[in-house]
Amino acid sequence: MANNQGESGLTSKDYYFDSYAHFGIHEEMLKDEVRTLSYRASIYNNKHLFQDKIVLDVGCGTGILSMFAAKSGAKHVYGIDMSNIIIQARKIVDDNGLTDKITLIQGKMEDVKLPVDKVDIIISEWMGYFLLYESMLDTVLVARDKYLAPGGMIFPDKATMYIAAIEDGDYKEEKIDYWDNVYGFDYSSIKSLAIKEPLVDTVDARAVVTTPCAFREIDILTVQKSDLTFTVPFKITAARDDYVHAFISWFDIGFTHCHKPVHFSTGPHAKYTHWKQTVFYTPEAITVKNGETIEGVLSCSPNGINPRDLDIVIDYSFNGNHGSIKEHCEFKM
Ligand code: SAH
Repeated sequence: MANNQGESGLTSKDYYFDSYAHFGIHEEMLKDEVRTLSYRASIYNNKHLFQDKIVLDVGCGTGILSMFAAKSGAKHVYGIDMSNIIIQARKIVDDNGLTDKITLIQGKMEDVKLPVDKVDIIISEWMGYFLLYESMLDTVLVARDKYLAPGGMIFPDKATMYIAAIEDGDYKEEKIDYWDNVYGFDYSSIKSLAIKEPLVDTVDARAVVTTPCAFREIDILTVQKSDLTFTVPFKITAARDDYVHAFISWFDIGFTHCHKPVHFSTGPHAKYTHWKQTVFYTPEAITVKNGETIEGVLSCSPNGINPRDLDIVIDYSFNGNHGSIKEHCEFKM
């Protein structure tokens, strides 16, 4: 997924689906080759899993995953999407001679009644920024609980979330400290807003100062909606002497049913994806020496008013050669 509703300030349900109606957002996702080629490999290289199976594509968009599944031998594919992009998907499926294999249904997955009771495989590309932004995983879980046959498979079926810390002095100055003095005026009231908003951006792998910590592993086959509200500890270790200006987070995705498991990462060390990384600036820089650790607790929950938004809290403490820090930082994305 590629939705950045937060930037526009529009967060209504209508806006959410409208934003997927234009081909531009789908262009960004299709052109994300790490994303799309991973899905394709997981489907094309596993014809033995797809042969003669009933497949459900949750949020089919332009129909790309449905067509991969049909080409991989599925008996029939049902593609569901609420957005008007499905009108294009119908044309595309037709233009590719796959209408007899793929049925596209416009509607909210939560409300749609499929013409079959059960499906063998669910495919979906539901991942948002910081993995969980937009909460589309909730929709996949509804589809799973309603339609997945016992022993059925989900593509992808594993997600792992990571945290690390970075040196980012120059950019922090540009994005956060900028508000201290705007043409001679005190704009620091905006600074306190800006620091609360995680920044979705690409981070140079060389900026990463610490070891990564996998703080959350999600098994899509078994996870419950309530598990997506969580508080977890983390511990990261400085790999050199440096300053820390922010935490960053990213996720890896796994298709482990495959004959040869397919994985991709959205981390700073991996090839660019449209998910980039998510940056959480700390109020003060932390001076770390090689081997010193930052310990903390990260909480994540859907926002009470708009459940597609996320409230993220990072509490951390550091006891180092160059000082001690204890902070409580609240973010909203
Ligand atoms: N599968 C496509 C599109 C992924 S983007 C691809 O891989 O390129 C996610 C899509 O899910 C969007 O088109 C969005 O409209 C749709 N979507 C999100 N939540 C939905 C819901 N609850 N019901 C139906 N469609 C949904």
